[in-house]
Amino acid sequence: MHCPNCEEKFDKKKEICQSCGLKYEDLKLKSVLKTDNPMTISFAKSILQDSNIKYITKGETLRGVYPLGGSLGSVDFLVMQKDEQAAREMLSELA
Ligand SMILES: [Zn+2]
Repeated sequence: MHCPNCEEKFDKKKEICQSCGLKYEDLKLKSVLKTDNPMTISFAKSILQDSNIKYITKGETLRGVYPLGGSLGSVDFLVMQKDEQAAREMLSELA
């Protein structure tokens, strides 16, 4: 896996990122939003970026292959456990 903070390769046996010091326990990712609405997806991205919340999207690879498709499944936004509450609050207006 890769560290969501610095994107270096992360060895979970070491329990801490060698590059940035992030702890493995902080890497338990929580889904905070799931949507297939392209507008909501781009709003959610800008909100999270503006808030400096690191996030990972799942399901977007497929969308990239078929960029014009609107209903190819939903995108799942995952954030680190420590950011879950803040992210949920910020994204609640989109849900
Ligand atoms: Zn790191």
